[in-house]
Amino acid sequence: MLKTKYRTHTCGELTIKNKGQQVTLCGWIQKVRKLGGMTFIDLRDRYGITQLVSQDEGAIDGFSREMVLQVEGEVIERQSKNPKINTGEVEIRISKLTVLNKSLTPPFTIEEETDGGEELRMKYRYLDLRRNNVRANLELRHRMAIETRNFLDKLQFLEVETPVLIKSTPEGARDFVVPSRMNQGEFYALPQSPQTFKQLLMVAGFDRYYQIVKCFRDEDLRGDRQPEFTQIDCEMTFVEQEDILNIFEALVKHLFKTVKNIEIPELTRMTYADAMKYYGSDKPDIRFEMKFTEMNEVVKGKGFKVFDEAGLVAGICAKGAGEYTRKQLDELTEFVKRPQVGASGLVYARYNKDGTIKSSVDKFFNEETLKGWAEAFGAEPGDLMLILAGEPHKTRKALSELRLEMGSQLGLRDKTKFACHWVIDFPMLEWNEEGKRWHAMHHPFTAPKPEDMDKLVSDPGSVRANAYDLVINGVEIGGGSIRIHNKELQARVFDILGFTKEDAQYQFGFLMNAFEYGAPPHGGLAFGFDRLCALFGGADAIRDFIAFPKNNSGRDVMIDSPSIISPEQLKELGIAIK
Ligand code: ASP
Repeated sequence: MLKTKYRTHTCGELTIKNKGQQVTLCGWIQKVRKLGGMTFIDLRDRYGITQLVSQDEGAIDGFSREMVLQVEGEVIERQSKNPKINTGEVEIRISKLTVLNKSLTPPFTIEEETDGGEELRMKYRYLDLRRNNVRANLELRHRMAIETRNFLDKLQFLEVETPVLIKSTPEGARDFVVPSRMNQGEFYALPQSPQTFKQLLMVAGFDRYYQIVKCFRDEDLRGDRQPEFTQIDCEMTFVEQEDILNIFEALVKHLFKTVKNIEIPELTRMTYADAMKYYGSDKPDIRFEMKFTEMNEVVKGKGFKVFDEAGLVAGICAKGAGEYTRKQLDELTEFVKRPQVGASGLVYARYNKDGTIKSSVDKFFNEETLKGWAEAFGAEPGDLMLILAGEPHKTRKALSELRLEMGSQLGLRDKTKFACHWVIDFPMLEWNEEGKRWHAMHHPFTAPKPEDMDKLVSDPGSVRANAYDLVINGVEIGGGSIRIHNKELQARVFDILGFTKEDAQYQFGFLMNAFEYGAPPHGGLAFGFDRLCALFGGADAIRDFIAFPKNNSGRDVMIDSPSIISPEQLKELGIAIK
């Protein structure tokens, strides 16, 4: 099937079975060498490498890496075989060589372990993409997309494209905007997600929608975020949360099975409240236990001010870490004090193998009391108890970081193991101290749980939503919710979120109006596709799974974008830059 006018085979498919055949291959020079009067070329394409051989020493004079060749010759058996590659038993005895194009020496080696730094590789991304491991990442991405489509197609999901030039909305992240030439002074926005469109498709009766779709968010690029990224975006009609969780659990299992041949056990579910209480995070990594133990009752009133004055004293028990050295413990103390972690200090208690317990606060707590701590933690000899104290929210957050750090240090975060679960019952709203107003925790279209509806006005902070996140190995892969499908309720929620009636109408009138024409109950979710691919590929960086990613300043260094535009273009758009 891959035969064309240029070639009979690819560089990855010839084996001993093809011995004696006349073939034509095309590809790039990986390597050339002369050996004992013979000349060898490793010819590479997407599919593999085939060795070419010639008796003519001069055959490769002037040849260099990355030139594009066409070769004709006979498949012969190799003398020294290479069992590591598919084509390792054969080589092509060259009868004709044609140079299809020459190449400059690439600025870095086209090998898995390259000598090129990140910035250089991004500038020459087309060369970087020639490397096996980078290409393999994109092949994995392709497989994931195909399997997603196969799975959803079988369940009657329709892939519908939604527009990329839409309208700016203030909620959520910052929008990328595009000036309109035909409507000067007005702007489109690029979608942060197709949220409102997919809801309108439900109003339109499409019943089950999906799209593997680009989304755009103009955020500061913390960590591994890209300004444009891809979601598997889905929406369904006449469903409850339970239906959605079941269907998308099956999608996750299908992907693991078909792409990685891994059977994933049934996904566990954890409420948001428990996630915060036991892990201090709404996306806990449950590849390992190390749950929080709250210690207020055990530690207070012994004269240790730090504990007595704290809103929360809580800790973790690191199994088998009782032999941590003083230096390691000092490093952990430094770790928790880092501004990103934010604790003011660390209390530890080592449960020694001989049954004694030594703590960093022996002055205040005698051995007997420390035994009480060990009991609270379920600690055994050989374990290490690590305790933080302070304002509850901050303490939980810091302890969560410490837990992850200990998980890493103790080798409990193996990238080849996968722990997938749902976090459910998210609060609908969260208080924004800066703006002194409520924000939608998921987005403003999320419905409150019916049983919490009466608290919407009296106690908005306690209202839970039918909103859920999928978490794999401590990474939030995606989330969604059951939506509001009633105009009055949507208007009330906008009101609670601080929108005036006019603002709500201006921004979202199209959606609320649609709700007046027989909007069915509906809900959905979206998974971050790049992130899912990175996770499947055992990597942290999503940019390794994007063909042409942006760097940390949001630049594409290959095409050098963003860039300034000409005064004529600006004029045409009616934009004046001072
Ligand atoms: N549109 C949401 C998001 O991008 C996902 C959803 O609620 O379906 O996070």
